Amino acid sequence: MNSYMQTHQFLIQKNIKPSVQRTAVMEFLLNNRIHATVEEIYLALSPDMPTLSKTTVYNTLNLLVKKGAVQMLLIDEKNARYDADISKHGHFFCNSCGKVYDIFNLKPELFQLPTHPQFMIMDVEVSYKGFCNECKGN
Ligand SMILES: [Zn+2]
Ligand SMILES: [Zn+2]
Repeated sequence: MNSYMQTHQFLIQKNIKPSVQRTAVMEFLLNNRIHATVEEIYLALSPDMPTLSKTTVYNTLNLLVKKGAVQMLLIDEKNARYDADISKHGHFFCNSCGKVYDIFNLKPELFQLPTHPQFMIMDVEVSYKGFCNECKGN
């Protein structure tokens, strides 16, 4: 588990001013590898932080993504999902339960960015969809 102080230090390293709210959002993502939505983060933190708003969570996440501390996933068409693991890894979205799982044992070629005459390709998301083990029998 990442402590509040470890997370505080981590944000300073990433050049992010570690306000209490930013630290709490980052700490939640580090300790809950569920690829959380804005809503999930807000619901988890608001009981202890009555002044927290969903807009603050949203703005904080945008900043964390911009500074490279967190990656945003577009795998779930209903909600942006946020991942504290910024290493190259793939994701699997379960169409039934909506959980997003990490896939770490993919071929590295999948993450290589192609050169293209027309486009400056900057990023790639490797996303798969289907049914997870818990849902595929139902
Ligand atoms: Zn499932
Ligand atoms: Zn992930």
